[in-house]
Amino acid sequence: MTEQPPFTIIDVAVPLRLYTTFHYAVPPNLATLVRTGVRVLVPFGRRKLTGYVLGTVAESEEELKPISAVLDPEPLFTPEELAFFRWSASYYLHPLGEVIKTALPAGINVESRKRRVCSADGTGCEEEVMVGGKGVRRETFYRALPSMEPPANLRGKALRMAEFLRTVVDASASQLRREFGATAAHFRRLLELGLVEASEREVYRDPFREEVFACDTPLSLNDSQSAALERIMAATDGGGFAPFLLHGVTGSGKTEVYLQAIAHVLDAGKTALVLVPEIALTPQLVRRFKSRFDCGIAVLHSGLSDGERYDEWRRIRRNEVSIVIGARSAIFAPLSALGIIVVDEEHEASYKQSEGFRYNARDLALVRGKMAHAVVILGSATPLLTTYHAAQDGKLGYLSLPCRVRNLPMPQAELLDARGRRGDTFLPQLAAAIADNLAAGGQTLLFLNRRGFATFLVCQDCGHVLRCPNCSVTLTYHRRRERHFCHYCDYSIPAPSVCPECGSQAVGLLGRGTERVEEEVRELFPLARVGRMDRDTTGGRGGHARVLKGLEEGRIDILIGTQMIAKGHDFPGVTLVGVVSADATLNIPDFRSSERTFQLISQVMGRAGRGDAPGRVLIQSLAPDHYAIARAVAHDFEGFYNEEIGFRREAGYPPFAHLAALTLSGNSASEVEKGAETAASVLHRTKGELRSRVEILGPVSAPLAKIRGRYRLQILLKSVGRPELHRLLARFRAAVRLPAVVRMAIDVDPVDML
Ligand code: ADP
Ligand code: ZN
Ligand code: ZN
Repeated sequence: MTEQPPFTIIDVAVPLRLYTTFHYAVPPNLATLVRTGVRVLVPFGRRKLTGYVLGTVAESEEELKPISAVLDPEPLFTPEELAFFRWSASYYLHPLGEVIKTALPAGINVESRKRRVCSADGTGCEEEVMVGGKGVRRETFYRALPSMEPPANLRGKALRMAEFLRTVVDASASQLRREFGATAAHFRRLLELGLVEASEREVYRDPFREEVFACDTPLSLNDSQSAALERIMAATDGGGFAPFLLHGVTGSGKTEVYLQAIAHVLDAGKTALVLVPEIALTPQLVRRFKSRFDCGIAVLHSGLSDGERYDEWRRIRRNEVSIVIGARSAIFAPLSALGIIVVDEEHEASYKQSEGFRYNARDLALVRGKMAHAVVILGSATPLLTTYHAAQDGKLGYLSLPCRVRNLPMPQAELLDARGRRGDTFLPQLAAAIADNLAAGGQTLLFLNRRGFATFLVCQDCGHVLRCPNCSVTLTYHRRRERHFCHYCDYSIPAPSVCPECGSQAVGLLGRGTERVEEEVRELFPLARVGRMDRDTTGGRGGHARVLKGLEEGRIDILIGTQMIAKGHDFPGVTLVGVVSADATLNIPDFRSSERTFQLISQVMGRAGRGDAPGRVLIQSLAPDHYAIARAVAHDFEGFYNEEIGFRREAGYPPFAHLAALTLSGNSASEVEKGAETAASVLHRTKGELRSRVEILGPVSAPLAKIRGRYRLQILLKSVGRPELHRLLARFRAAVRLPAVVRMAIDVDPVDML
């Protein structure tokens, strides 16, 4: 290794909405501490900010200020990770400092405190002083001093603790409290008697600490699983970047292929990153990994406290784990020697972060995989149209698992025409099927993509509909709380008994949500044990897992839920799936609504018949002839793809074009309109200068024209080539000036077009 020249001038990114980085001077006394990847405290205008050191620069034109302090003893990111952050910042047109901040765990932020210090000339000034990382948890451990015998008068808990400590190396205060009911008085007594000594050390908070994992062994694979695994192993042995689509129907054993591919990668001394949608990141999945592997496994999801997340991050950084399982943000996990990245349920929209730094973890997995020379597996029963297209084009290796494991049949699905029966929650066939399944002791899932009780309240006399005053949506009635709620902001009102507009008593509730379906199910099947899973019932930590556990352990006969129940779960006892309404997603004004509907129905159907008993699926629809619904019912992905790809080609949507959406928002409708006009004219001018062929559509009112009191206008950019789109966006962003009251968000590869 060559000695690095000392850092005298450094390039620093600050976590602000600024697209440039800044140069600072390093005073000689700090020079040995500064390295790429550490944080530094820097003067910025009249305040001090934490910035990230990106590297050293030879010289600078700027008038340099010195950094105030170095905040980390060790770098927080490596040069390789920095290259990945830079790529992401540039691709998503987001400030580098904010990208780095997103990539690092929140718990890393150290406490700081103002302290008065005096400078040499006697004037006082305020300075921020570090007082240590609050993220690190320290615990007191007690250790027996072997030379000392417990005195004869020691009794009870204190004696038992003393004896226990003589049999172990040491024990933490919390363990002793848990197991012996120890209190501070007991600890003091043992210390005073000189029986034990106490010391502090750093501990990790492990969310799965209490669980014991049964060991399991690899299953013997069927032919298609073996074929897929062979190709993946050949690619990992090759040591270069290799992306695959693992297209396997629901219950085809994709997870088993991931597990064995990962085992192979670990054998070669490399590490694995597994991305799953937040909602599928259940204890069931984590258990499968923990039972299979005895290496360190880190789990990252949104239910962790900042402290727990920081602990997991440090275990990864210190190479104490070989597998990371996590939701979206785990794409930034600091794994070294990455050999494989798995993106399970790659079609899931939740891989896209739709606020702030708008990245897509599924797409970044390919970028990171390429940078790390790793294998990337995108797995799904219903891959994105764009993914399947790329596989057909040969850009991704195509691995297919066309059948369920153990030759289980695909569930038998029937489409029920609900036209003309709007008033009924259940058509007679579905009601009868639920009754039969209940009698036979099978479990039933009922799917409906709407929570709450009724979708809206309408006055039969004047036609008034309850709407949110802050958002352009109707309010949803929640019966248990007897209020109407906005699902986009916090607004709610008590349920009115008369029309607020005309005073008529003829107010009716239209549409139905999961709460209403639950109520009807309880009325129809009073003896059934009924559960509901949606955002209202799974609030708080572990709520989601609790409901799933009830189903797994057979304590629920009928589970009603939103898309939460559709995702990747494996419930052998479920023999009937009913789709109460298949149409809600079809009517969303988005070019992907057919694709979403096809995916959702296929995924819900896939929950049936994964055990020994065959599964049955009944789907009620007001649009039974729509190809998204008909093809899903027929298990016909190819057929759906061929129809949908034709539409995409004609309309110039992905994969035949790349998109970027600009959303302008603000509290004043006229200011937002002016801002959007300005943005559009700068775009057109820039397009002319660049002789670009990017299509500029809009500005138009966004489908959700107002959210939380902010008016929203959109401009959509469409381009056949990606570089061309980026050239236009980068130049536009540098040139455009908008009034401070108008906010502009640039969304590259938007997923949510509302
Ligand atoms: P997918 O992820 O494709 O939906 P899973 O990997 O969850 O499917 O597999 C479904 C079930 O089949 C799991 O319980 C799994 O243990 C089991 N399984 C997987 N592969 C095999 C195999 N080769 N033989 C028998 N059972 C298998
Ligand atoms: Zn009225
Ligand atoms: Zn609202």
